[in-house]
Amino acid sequence: MWKVPLFDASFGPEEKEAVLEVLASGWISMGPTTERFESEFARMVGARHGVAVCSCTAALHLALLAAGIGPRCEIIVPSLTFVATVNAVLYTGATPVFADITGLDDWTISSREIQAKITGRTKGMIVMHYGGYPCDMEGIRSIAKDHGLKLIEDAAHAPGAHIDGRMLGTWGDLGCFSFFSNKNITTAEGGMIVTDDGDTSKRLRNLRSHGMTTLTWDRHKGHGFSYDVTDLGYNYRLDEIRAALGLVQLSRLPQYNAKRREITRSMRESLRRSDQLTIPFPDELIGSASCHIFPVLLESGVDRSRFMAYMKEAGIQTSIHYPPVHRFSAYSGRFLANLPLTDEVASREVTLPLFPGMTEEQIELVCETALRAAEACRS
Ligand SMILES: *Cc1c(COP(=O)(O)O)cnc(C)c1O
Repeated sequence: MWKVPLFDASFGPEEKEAVLEVLASGWISMGPTTERFESEFARMVGARHGVAVCSCTAALHLALLAAGIGPRCEIIVPSLTFVATVNAVLYTGATPVFADITGLDDWTISSREIQAKITGRTKGMIVMHYGGYPCDMEGIRSIAKDHGLKLIEDAAHAPGAHIDGRMLGTWGDLGCFSFFSNKNITTAEGGMIVTDDGDTSKRLRNLRSHGMTTLTWDRHKGHGFSYDVTDLGYNYRLDEIRAALGLVQLSRLPQYNAKRREITRSMRESLRRSDQLTIPFPDELIGSASCHIFPVLLESGVDRSRFMAYMKEAGIQTSIHYPPVHRFSAYSGRFLANLPLTDEVASREVTLPLFPGMTEEQIELVCETALRAAEACRS
């Protein structure tokens, strides 16, 4: 239907083979393939432990629980993010405290805002690497350290992105990744938590599977006949089929991200010609970012709905990242939120298509159409 969809997952024969192998093995629920996916993912990001779960939403929930977050705690969060970042805080009974973004050129949570939102009840923060571009992790880490706060990274956009060689997701106490179908690598649904702390990883594994002391796989191997339940846990497990997909996708991540960077550079270059839109984040970051999406900021005189309709007319799918969380009906009025920069960006942002399989023709069509649309839709 679309000439250029917003994203497009690509699989090769390797994914198909990996899935069929699991089916042939006769063991499909969490087991050795999941363990291998965990250790290879952890190795890729340079963390000691990886804990696979069924989604990044589950990852965020368990990360908060493992960090000891619960009722009466305040957790500082961005609003310019997917709603799951903040929902996870509410699952624990804690209170989200919204902080604004850094600026019109940097849409990640502001470290100055974080500092300003700390109260006696603040127990931690979740930061989100928007688009695969890093938050100010040096600054945020030192605030967390000074105040004894837990630092959780929502790295759903950021597998393979780094700051000076240190991967995003490993700067805080816990890093959470997503393998949903539109992310840089996918298992259809899936997620991963990484941490360097052994006790935390044990707690995560326990909570992931009903708080039980042994797994079905352990019992299958003959390790124990019974189990105890030591905590209120969940069923947040990944399965072998998805883990097998994940292993193949993980091996493709370097080439996928390289392609995303190349396309991002080329689109930034073409779109620079317009004075009706700007592109956030500096050029120097592209080489270390994971370029998950391609966001642009329309000038305030450009009508966004008309712009998106113009693109749609040309067969190009666009989106908005994000309608800010504090404005949703389920949130608005419940929490204090004075976020002028978030509101500004959220009202003028449009996301253009970006995926590793984009052809030269598709890239050109997107850029040429966007340039024309921005001119045509000035109000
Ligand atoms: C996709 C996404 C999530 C949720 O991931 P799921 O795996 O779909 O649960 C959380 N945060 C951000 C920033 C995301 O983009």
